[in-house]
Amino acid sequence: MKDCVETIPALNDNWVYLIRSQNTDEYMLIDAGEAAPVIDNLQGKALKHLLFTHHHGDHIAGASDIQKHTGCQMHGIKADLEQLPNGTEALPESWKWQEYAFDIILAPGHTLNHVMFYEKNNHWLFSGDTLFIAGCGRLFEGSHEQMYDTLQKIKSLPDDTKLFCGHDYTLSNLTFAKHLFPGDVDINKGYELAKLNNFPHSTTLATEKKINPFLKASTLEEFKKFRIMKDNF
Ligand SMILES: [Zn+2]
Repeated sequence: MKDCVETIPALNDNWVYLIRSQNTDEYMLIDAGEAAPVIDNLQGKALKHLLFTHHHGDHIAGASDIQKHTGCQMHGIKADLEQLPNGTEALPESWKWQEYAFDIILAPGHTLNHVMFYEKNNHWLFSGDTLFIAGCGRLFEGSHEQMYDTLQKIKSLPDDTKLFCGHDYTLSNLTFAKHLFPGDVDINKGYELAKLNNFPHSTTLATEKKINPFLKASTLEEFKKFRIMKDNF
């Protein structure tokens, strides 16, 4: 099932995700920072749905061109609709499409109305700009408390959850993690891979619990300290 999710690099360091239904050979997309790489990839594939994690330009700028090209339906949460592309429809709390069942997890922090998509049958988490490999999103709209609570929600998912995040910040995040935990074997191993550009494009929650300082933080105070340090790193 892993091969049903394809990572498409967009803009400088964004990742968008194309998901294939094995039932129908149709596709859905998570986020749309740029149209050209997605349209190039599609080459006649039937894109039916486009889901947005949040309203930042680097997640929505390609949407209207993709929509015009494919006729796909666009979806986001109701509270974010005013800032999402015209024609976006409101998502319910859980959303089913073909063999997939997504929980829409509210994830305030990076923005107030950020959502993550958790696919329950395969344990896939599309985390947008909330959790990155070895890092977490900056707080543009939400508070440290909100982001900390959101990360605790992520920690409660199964350890084999596969993480698909919105940006490739892996090397910069592991550089910071190494600075915080200089003797940590897992972080050092990850850092060496990232330096060679060999770190995988997605991890599991089990791995993140080992290498991600923001998940390792065991109190709100510690999380806040790490987040402020990273903002100035
Ligand atoms: Zn963002």
